[in-house]
Amino acid sequence: MRKIVLACILLLFGAAPALAELKVVATLPWIGNLARILGGDQVAVTTLVKPNQDPHMVEAKPSMILAGRKADILMYNGLDLEIGYLPLILESARNPRIVPGKPGNFNCSRFVKAIEKPTAIDRSMGDVHPLGNPHYHFSPSNILRVAAGMTDALAELDAVHAETYRQNYKEFSTLVAQKQEQWQTLGFQGKRFVAYHKLFEYLAAEFGFQIVGYVEPKPGIPPSAAHVEGLIASMKSSHTDGILTTSYYGRTEAESLGEKTGVRIIALPADVGAMPDTDSWFAFMDRVLTSLR
Ligand SMILES: [Zn+2]
Repeated sequence: MRKIVLACILLLFGAAPALAELKVVATLPWIGNLARILGGDQVAVTTLVKPNQDPHMVEAKPSMILAGRKADILMYNGLDLEIGYLPLILESARNPRIVPGKPGNFNCSRFVKAIEKPTAIDRSMGDVHPLGNPHYHFSPSNILRVAAGMTDALAELDAVHAETYRQNYKEFSTLVAQKQEQWQTLGFQGKRFVAYHKLFEYLAAEFGFQIVGYVEPKPGIPPSAAHVEGLIASMKSSHTDGILTTSYYGRTEAESLGEKTGVRIIALPADVGAMPDTDSWFAFMDRVLTSLR
C-alpha cells in the first residue's frame, strides 16, 4: 500500500512541470488561438471575449479580473479596442506582472502597421477608433508580425522553452506563406462590397477588393434613414458584389438593405470560432476568403 502511495506521489511530482505552464490571458479569440499555436503545451490560455461577442461592447466581469490576477502574461489587441473593459481589469487585478511596461503586458498592435490613422482626432464625430483601424486580425502580413513579437515575449518570460516557441513560430510562418499563395489565387481584384462596420479594411487592402460603402456613417454611429437611402441609391447606380455582415453586426440592417437592392448578403465570422469550423486562425481566414468569392 505504501509503495502505491509513494508511486502516486512520484507520479504527481512527475506531472509537476505541467503546473509550470505560462498562464496566458488573451482578450480576443484570435489572440488566444495565436498564443496556443505558438505556446503549444507550454501555455494555458484563458480567453476573455467570446467569438460571437461584439468586441467593442465588452464589459468587465469578476471572472475576467480573477483571470487577470493569475496571469503571467496579458495579451490584447490594442488600438483602444479594449478601452471599455481592460483598464478596469488591470486596475482591479492588482497583478504587477501584467501592468504596462512589464514583459507580461503584450499589446499586439505594437507590431502592426495600422491603417486609417486619423490625422486629427475628433471624438465629437463619435468614431470609436481614434487610433486607427483595430481589426487587423484579418491581415496575414500583420498577423505574422504579431506572431513574431508574441514569440519573443513568450521566450523572454519562459527562457527554458524559448527554442520550442521559436520552432512553433517557424512552423506557423511557413504555413502562413503556403496559405498566402492559395489565398492570393482566389481572385478578388475589382470586387466591390458594402459593409456594416469598418471590419474588413485590412482584408480589402491585402486582397485587392474595395469596400465602397458602409451602413454606419462612422464607426460606432448607427445609420440615419437619410444615410441608408443614400447608400441604397449608390448601390442601385453601381455594381456591388455583396453586403458584408457578421453575427453581431447589423444583421437586420444588412437584410433590409439586401431586400431593397437585390444584393446578396455575405455573413462572415468576425473572429476565430465565430462560425462552425473556424476554430483556428487559418480556418477562420479560409472561411472569410472563400465566402467572398
Ligand atoms: Zn471596430
